[in-house]
Amino acid sequence: MSSRISVFVGLGSNLDNPVRQIRAAFSNLTQIRNTSLEKCSSLFSGPAMGGQKNQADYINAVAMLTTTLSPLDLLGALQENETLQGRIHGERWGPRIIDLDLLIYGTRIIDEKNLSVPHVGVADRAFVLVPLSELDPELVVPNLGKVSELVKLVDCRQLVRLESTMLSEHFK
Ligand code: ADP
Ligand code: MG
Repeated sequence: MSSRISVFVGLGSNLDNPVRQIRAAFSNLTQIRNTSLEKCSSLFSGPAMGGQKNQADYINAVAMLTTTLSPLDLLGALQENETLQGRIHGERWGPRIIDLDLLIYGTRIIDEKNLSVPHVGVADRAFVLVPLSELDPELVVPNLGKVSELVKLVDCRQLVRLESTMLSEHFK
């Protein structure tokens, strides 16, 4: 039997009731073959990043999985899940129903045309590092270092962890 690899997936949404979309995405992760959903972070709210500032706030979270799928097979499964939730791949940085990024795949460093792991956003995105540190502060991101150290270097001031009382407000 091939060994199971620990994997972290970043989830993001800012369209069509983002809280509902993130919850659906967590649920859909349980359906991926040869893969188990181990842990889900809290949900976080924050402003859009990148060039397009005039779009709705994002909801972000991180999931920990274990899998025996290869990195590319897992990426394919994540993209199928994006499509299942109705994502149309449009402009980069634009609003999206669901974005599933393969953040970390064990200790692997991958630099292929369609897949960079660790994901380019891990180093400097509060909405990735804060939920990651909730799941595993001791985790070492290959090439980058320990999550508990990396998270100290990013600006977290605009990121809000959604308490359960706030979720109902977002769950419209
Ligand atoms: P964003 O950078 O905003 O997540 P997209 O989701 O539209 O943008 O980008 C998808 C493209 O990024 C895919 O074509 C995929 O091949 C590529 N990609 C490279 N590395 C990764 C990764 N680690 N996780 C997900 N997609 C990746
Ligand atoms: Mg993506």
